Amino acid sequence: MAGAQRTEEPVPEGAGPKAPLRRLWDHARPHTGVLVVGGLLTFVGGLTGLAQPLVAKLVIDALAEGDPLTTPLFVLGVLVVGGAVIAAAGMFVLERTAQSVVLAARRQLVARLLRLRVAEVDRLKPGDLVSRITSDTTLLRSVATSSITNAVTGVLLLAGGIALMAVMDPVLFGVTIGVLAATALIMGVVLPRIGRATVAGQAAVGEMGSLLERVFGAFRTVKASGAERAEGERLDAAALRAWRKGVDVAGWTALSGTLAGLAVNIAFLTVLGVGGARVAAGALEISSLIAFLMLLFYLTEPITSLVQAATELQGGLAAIHRIDEVATLQQEDTDTDTDTGAGAGAVRADGGSAAVSFTDVAFRYAPDLPMVHHGVTFDAPGRGLTALVGPSGAGKTTVFSLLERFYDPTGGEVRVGGVEVRDWPIAALRSAIGYVEQDAPVLDGTLRENLLMAAPNATAADIADVVERTRLGPLLARLPEGLDSRIGHRGTTISGGERQRVAIARALLRGPRLLLLDEATSQLDAANEAALKNTVLEVARDISVLVVAHRLSTVTSAERIVVMDAGRVRAVGTHAELVAADELYRDLAASQLLTAS
Ligand code: ADP
Ligand code: MG
Repeated sequence: MAGAQRTEEPVPEGAGPKAPLRRLWDHARPHTGVLVVGGLLTFVGGLTGLAQPLVAKLVIDALAEGDPLTTPLFVLGVLVVGGAVIAAAGMFVLERTAQSVVLAARRQLVARLLRLRVAEVDRLKPGDLVSRITSDTTLLRSVATSSITNAVTGVLLLAGGIALMAVMDPVLFGVTIGVLAATALIMGVVLPRIGRATVAGQAAVGEMGSLLERVFGAFRTVKASGAERAEGERLDAAALRAWRKGVDVAGWTALSGTLAGLAVNIAFLTVLGVGGARVAAGALEISSLIAFLMLLFYLTEPITSLVQAATELQGGLAAIHRIDEVATLQQEDTDTDTDTGAGAGAVRADGGSAAVSFTDVAFRYAPDLPMVHHGVTFDAPGRGLTALVGPSGAGKTTVFSLLERFYDPTGGEVRVGGVEVRDWPIAALRSAIGYVEQDAPVLDGTLRENLLMAAPNATAADIADVVERTRLGPLLARLPEGLDSRIGHRGTTISGGERQRVAIARALLRGPRLLLLDEATSQLDAANEAALKNTVLEVARDISVLVVAHRLSTVTSAERIVVMDAGRVRAVGTHAELVAADELYRDLAASQLLTAS
């Protein structure tokens, strides 16, 4: 589970903060204009707040002088209302942009996830990927917007204030800078801890996603095994880990906030002490000291907002880290146009047939796993039924995975329609193939959605035709809303045999030139199996059909049978030839006769 290990990794130290910062900026950059507007609005809203005490002073002066209050009160009212409206507009603009940043990140992740190679998804934990889309993206929300504007205005105000201080009194300036620099050093230690705790917390949330997926993916088995408690404990442990990391983040955040407040106060006291001594010694005027202290007081806000921005930034960098990991996963090359490319052309020239040929194919699922195919060689012509038989683990399903290009062989050649599958545009290859995988799933949704997912443009007549051919009529009649009945999470409301027939109907609806059926009739009763065998034989009159089958009745109807064992093709022939010539086949046939109807 290399995918799981990845999620536990801390932020790589070597990568430095710069690269992820730039990647964070990538998320904000498309909104630069709006950010400037939002930032300016917030800034102006803040300025009106600063102006209020000045106008209040005018009101009090007017009171004292006995002058009419109308004008200063009106100005104050305009400032209060106007300031509030401007600040609210600024907040809205920034928050709207923040949501847009999250939307863009989610869209990007969804697009990436759907282009992932099957090989990658096989070794990853879907639940963790889900949490990266749903949970980690929300961490980008404030970071890419208000944190940036807060940081920018904070830096500007701080720089301005510090420059003013330097002009006012070099000694007090030195004292202030000393205190602030010491604080910055401590922050340098605290902030990365916030980042690391956030990464670990998000990883724990991701793990909860994986565990939930595990439980709901096998809910009946969990119940039947009485494993609720054990599974619950695993989930609880992950939730607890997320809690612990969340508490860590809270602790470090509280510390950094306190430090920021303390720093200003310590600077205040130190300046008061040093400045007071200098005033006493006659080296400084008291009015300068007071002005300096006021300036320091006004810098409290930019300093706290800078620290807050830096704290939020740690969470954002953690999210970027987990989001970017998805970008490093291998994607399928789907850029090629479906209508061009050697494969599509060759198949058309070949009269639409999609003959299959395996030549000396070697394959393993991963470099650290044993070989699954050791030089598999066989042909299946453009028309007719070919059966793949052999003990489980022989590598039959893997043959189909290579045909669909879920994986690529490590040696040899896999051809469809005379063209190496690697030279086919993937979309064209897959649209030429109808594939019913082993334990074919039904997706959550209606029966109609399940059929149309393979052929969105199929007509009502097309659907009626496949329903008839796959014997789905009785199911359709039974379902309360017919085709529009929801058949549940993983098709839990229909039987295993019905699920298989839905999967076959879906594959047929695609109008394939090559049909792959992997133990697709294993759960059918004798009557349905016999009926579907006829359908398959009918289909095989026009196109190539490859079946992995256990039932002898299906196998004996095949024009050719490929006997596989331990990743090799032992023999190819008809039933009669193989019974005479191949011992393994004879054994399989003998045992399968027992289950054949
Ligand atoms: P069959 O369909 O003939 O039962 P498979 O092609 O499914 O056999 O599997 C052949 C071998 O490859 C088995 O040893 C199996 O454990 C292994 N295998 C199948 N799928 C994977 C996978 N996704 N990752 C790693 N190993 C796999
Ligand atoms: Mg199999």
